[in-house]
Amino acid sequence: MLEIHYVVDLLVRENTCYGVLAYDRDRRSFRVFRGKVVVLATGGLGRLFEHNTNPEIATGDGIAIAFRAGAEVMDMEFIQFHPTVLNLPGAPRFLISEAVRGEGAYLRNCQGQRFMPRYHDLAELAPRDIVVRAILKEMAVTNSNIVYLDLTHLDPVVVRLRFPNITKTCAAYKLDITVDPIPVAPAAHYMMGGVKTNLVGETSVRGLYACGEVSCPGVHGANRLASNSLLDGLVFGGRIVEETRKFLKDYQPRRPEFACDWLLEPAGIDYAALRKELEVLMGDKVGPVRSGSGLKEALKFFDHWGYLFRHGVEDAGQMEVKNMLQVGEMVAEAALARRESRGGHYRVDYPDTRRRWQKHIIFRR
Ligand SMILES: Cc1cc2nc3c(=O)[nH]c(=O)nc-3n(C[C@H](O)[C@H](O)[C@H](O)COP(=O)(O)OP(=O)(O)OC[C@H]3O[C@@H](n4cnc5c(N)ncnc54)[C@H](O)[C@@H]3O)c2cc1C
Repeated sequence: MLEIHYVVDLLVRENTCYGVLAYDRDRRSFRVFRGKVVVLATGGLGRLFEHNTNPEIATGDGIAIAFRAGAEVMDMEFIQFHPTVLNLPGAPRFLISEAVRGEGAYLRNCQGQRFMPRYHDLAELAPRDIVVRAILKEMAVTNSNIVYLDLTHLDPVVVRLRFPNITKTCAAYKLDITVDPIPVAPAAHYMMGGVKTNLVGETSVRGLYACGEVSCPGVHGANRLASNSLLDGLVFGGRIVEETRKFLKDYQPRRPEFACDWLLEPAGIDYAALRKELEVLMGDKVGPVRSGSGLKEALKFFDHWGYLFRHGVEDAGQMEVKNMLQVGEMVAEAALARRESRGGHYRVDYPDTRRRWQKHIIFRR
């Protein structure tokens, strides 16, 4: 296993994948890895959003890489936001799981009022997207960026026993969850869309497979059920192994040559500042509540930075930002095109689910 290698692009000729181009971060040099089969398993894209639950690597690389290689990318507008993520200055965006609400915790606005029963019959146990929108509405109405998850009415012994990790993490920030309500806010959590695959993990490029959060076999629809993604990785990872065995039986060896066009002149811009700007924009305009005008603003931003694709980059961090731009644009474009609301995609200007939109949006280069 090569830990410090960052995959930059796929080696594709005539819609067949022959390996990857990677960047060795230690040696600061490019390396080519040839392979009869390539499996993308690069995870999600939560890091495109300022507030997210995801690990640092979740920058949508695999989706951008596959798209550039000519693979089909599907359902990019469907992103799941988690309603209850720790929202304390200086603290990480630590996820406070549904189990806490399952145990009987209440959501309260900054005025201490429990609000979920006003939004849904299931109150705090309503689907994630509904709880997220209710929280955002309460925040807007109360002019605050905080709501609270309140466990203080529950038996403290049970709370500590059931949620030792949450108890410990909050305690590190001087919160005793048995007496203090936990400040929470929604954050980007899971990508339902991604590199389109069939039910055995094949993408539209021969020899290229994808599984896990980077992939989109369509099994999570527009709104994944909690806890199904690890299952997805297990099922499709296994199926890919089976499928590639068959693929390799009739494999005809070929060794095309590749030229690297990444060695272009760098743009000389501040990529860290651009990344920050992108993360804020994604949260504001392409987040859990979207509008046509906001999405158009987001697309203007992506159009403006489009010229960067005629320039090279100087390190893996810059490559990551370019991937984020490419993927963010697809999310915004799909969200603008889908003039309805469905699952994780909500448009204030088209709040209803429309039967005629029971279809996928697919990007192909
Ligand atoms: C806080 C949290 C809680 C969750 N809880 C649950 C749960 O309870 N149940 C559930 O089913 N799901 C849960 N999920 C979702 C689930 O964890 C993820 O969907 C899943 O881990 C994704 O796995 P993956 O293998 O696709 O990607 P990852 O586990 O993210 O792995 C991606 C790998 O690809 C590498 N990579 C990325 N880009 C590149 C590149 N350019 N070059 C080389 N390598 C690269 C990364 O370094 C990483 O090793 C949770 C997610 C979060 C964030």
